[in-house]
Amino acid sequence: MAGTTITNWFGDVTSHPRVVVEAASVDEIIKILKDPDHYPSPVRAVGSNHSTPPCGVAEGGTLIKMSKMNRILELGTDTVTVQAGAIAIDIAHELEKHGMQFYVNTEIGSLSVGSAACAGTKDASMPGEYGQVGSYITRIGMVLPSGELLDVSDDQPELIQKVRSSYGTFGIVYQATYKIRPILPMAVRHETFKLADFLAKLPQLMTSGDSLMYYMFPYEDLITVEFRHYNPGATGDPDKHVWPLRNYMWAKAGPLFSAQVEANISNKTVRYKVIDGFCAVWRFKLENLVRSENTVATDQIISYPPVADASRYTFSLWAFPEELYPSVLPLYFAFCKKYYHDTGYRNNMLYVGYRILKDRQSLLSYSWDGNVMTIDPVSTGNPGWTTFLPAYNQWCSDHGGVPLPNQTPLATRAQIEKALGERWKQFAEARRTFDPKNRLLNDFFRDLLGE
Ligand SMILES: Cc1cc2nc3c(=O)[nH]c(=O)nc-3n(C[C@H](O)[C@H](O)[C@H](O)COP(=O)(O)OP(=O)(O)OC[C@H]3O[C@@H](n4cnc5c(N)ncnc54)[C@H](O)[C@@H]3O)c2cc1C
Repeated sequence: MAGTTITNWFGDVTSHPRVVVEAASVDEIIKILKDPDHYPSPVRAVGSNHSTPPCGVAEGGTLIKMSKMNRILELGTDTVTVQAGAIAIDIAHELEKHGMQFYVNTEIGSLSVGSAACAGTKDASMPGEYGQVGSYITRIGMVLPSGELLDVSDDQPELIQKVRSSYGTFGIVYQATYKIRPILPMAVRHETFKLADFLAKLPQLMTSGDSLMYYMFPYEDLITVEFRHYNPGATGDPDKHVWPLRNYMWAKAGPLFSAQVEANISNKTVRYKVIDGFCAVWRFKLENLVRSENTVATDQIISYPPVADASRYTFSLWAFPEELYPSVLPLYFAFCKKYYHDTGYRNNMLYVGYRILKDRQSLLSYSWDGNVMTIDPVSTGNPGWTTFLPAYNQWCSDHGGVPLPNQTPLATRAQIEKALGERWKQFAEARRTFDPKNRLLNDFFRDLLGE
């Protein structure tokens, strides 16, 4: 395919690669990288193209779509090796047939292996565990810009640490190996707190032995916390309806309803009363129906349509050191209310947040310095969203937040440099070593790196 327009999954990031290839083999990727005359630079790979910033765009260059390379290559007793275009939900279902599961079960089922191996991800850390998928990836196969292959494993901890956050700027990932575990029953429950009560109880919640994910309603000062822990003593068959109910409300009904209300009700006071009413129903369902002593972690993973439909949504994310969170969160809620008061804009879905434990498995890990808690606005992209994002980014940067190159749209170079400091410089240096001729460098990373 030549001269095609490509958009990300949500549809708000567009680019025009001169060549688009649906790679079917490692040899094909090698051929592309070795032949700049027919496959112009920048060469970028994408999995499901769900990223909200333009980290995967190949304007004027070559885009490699990985989704045809989706085979499970080897399923061992505690590892699975998969081609880079396979997506989380397909692998998880195959693992389940063998009584196995991932360590980190993100809500996004479209997460490709290639992206998980070299880009940022998040899910609330289970007690004592990492919350980033790549931290459980123990071996990565890449085609380097020269066309040579590199096989890096956790026997080379410094190298794999860099590769795990290389964002396709060191090489194209063609396969990866995940550490996996036998399925464990998992308990889940929800409880809603007033903001002040949540902050007062936070120290207890952090040591409760549960993972903490939460839905936030800043205009009502409410937070609904999702508590999960593995519950090996659970008996009987797992509840299979619990996560599908969450998934339907979260990824289907919620965004569809919010987009319709946005389009149909012009009076903002009425519109957001209706949305807040939906959120009240949502909290009721979470508290009363999404609870069980025995669920399967794999059921949390959502199957998103390959092409976004009317229930599509987008979001952003900044992570804050957890010790700052009790002071940051009330200020953030006040910022949201003031922004709405001053500009007439608020995002038309809720907020979410995750507690993710300290993790140095990847160089650009947003929880490198310690445990973090995130503030993630979710929206159907209502008018005002793209003006709101820079204000949100600056606020979060000013208050000690850390952005992700693939999940924080419109974050600036200054904000990334402030958050990642020396590690961003080390990344820049490593990238230059891997790709001295900038074969894989797109404008997005060129700007952020100041190259
Ligand atoms: C509706 C929605 C829900 C989401 N939910 C979650 C969630 O629960 N948890 C979470 O962590 N994230 C979530 N995200 C964000 C998303 O998971 C991440 O942005 C992730 O990177 C997407 O995976 P992907 O395969 O679509 O990556 P892509 O967007 O295709 O790629 C991400 C980056 O990796 C590079 N890349 C991809 N494949 C390769 C490869 N084979 N070799 C080299 N480089 C490669 C790309 O160039 C790009 O820079 C969500 C996004 C949306 C839109």
